[in-house]
Amino acid sequence: MTEEIVPQPITIETRRPRPLLGYSGDELRQIMAARGHNSFRGTQLAKWLYAKGATSFDQMTDIPRPLRNELAADAYIIGRSTVAVAQHSRDGTAKLLLELQDGQRVETVGLPYEGWLSCCVSSQVGCPVRCGFCATGRSGYTRNLTPGEIVDQVLTVHQVMQQRRGGEQRVDHVVFMGMGEPLLNYDNVLKAVHLLNKEVGIGMRNITISTVGYVPAIKKLAEEKLQVTLAISLHATNDTLRHRLIPTMTQWSVQDIVDAAREYANATSRRVTFEYCLLRDQNDSIVHAQELARLLRGVMAHVNLIPYNAVDGLGFLPPLADHVKAFRSILEQAGFEVTQRAQRGADIDAACGQLRRRQDQSTLTKT
Ligand code: SAH
Ligand code: SF4
Repeated sequence: MTEEIVPQPITIETRRPRPLLGYSGDELRQIMAARGHNSFRGTQLAKWLYAKGATSFDQMTDIPRPLRNELAADAYIIGRSTVAVAQHSRDGTAKLLLELQDGQRVETVGLPYEGWLSCCVSSQVGCPVRCGFCATGRSGYTRNLTPGEIVDQVLTVHQVMQQRRGGEQRVDHVVFMGMGEPLLNYDNVLKAVHLLNKEVGIGMRNITISTVGYVPAIKKLAEEKLQVTLAISLHATNDTLRHRLIPTMTQWSVQDIVDAAREYANATSRRVTFEYCLLRDQNDSIVHAQELARLLRGVMAHVNLIPYNAVDGLGFLPPLADHVKAFRSILEQAGFEVTQRAQRGADIDAACGQLRRRQDQSTLTKT
């Protein structure tokens, strides 16, 4: 009697891809040693990933082919994003929508200035804080970015800017002012900061973390005693106003946030930046400016005024020019150094989260 052969379903084992981008030089050396290779191979990998911006194993010509094949066979990948959309402004600003390995999309911006190049990175896909005036906040929250996904943005901006503008100018400033609240993704952001500093070569003082004012993490960051610049998005001078603009952060008062900033300044001897987004008829009056000056008295602070960049459908308006002027002069008369964020990329989707929002909306209307 012949036995009936029952076909078995074929199972192909698929391993989750393991991005190399995100490991430090030390970690890569350990990985190589653990696999029985000379740890020097880890140094070479780090150079390819962070200094040369490699996007594939094929480019790593001084690493033996069998080792590159071994890594690829073991599900290691480089971990770079692809540029889904690139908008270039007349003023040189480049806004990129990057597609990550899992298909999620985030924004990153390259900002050329006279003699230096800044990159504005995202720290999360979307943002859970949901500030009423912010395009990112209105588009919901999906997940945190990994350290590798944060560093990738800087490498990609660098490459896009070089292709476009030529020359050898590297990104030398990084600001966490893209999509997401960096201090709600604390560990990954901190690891990215260290990678940017040690592996990519960006000075700690040239890295700015902008936070909506998540007090416990500001205090934790103060204890790290890093030289990064802390920028706090205050936007309001009293609790009623602040909680109306940022309804998910009602646990901390304006005074709690200013106290945490003072703690940071004292612990690091670094001046804190207070960001104040001016919204017409909401927070831009002379009384608000006077309240702000009173609130920040005695804090080692600098104020960055951000005239609101209108986002369709959110119901907020940019301030009138003479209100901005009056607001600024009151702060200056009170002895504060005040800067005003120049509107960059006015001819492209300049506001944070706006490009992705517009892309999502056009996809929605197309399908
Ligand atoms: N989540 C962090 C960092 C990202 S937002 C934070 O809130 O600080 C960076 C800055 O851009 C914040 O000060 C934020 O309030 C501001 N911002 C967001 N949307 C804006 C818009 N449409 N116009 C002007 N500033 C905006
Ligand atoms: Fe998030 Fe910052 Fe936008 Fe608020 S302003 S929703 S904290 S990204």
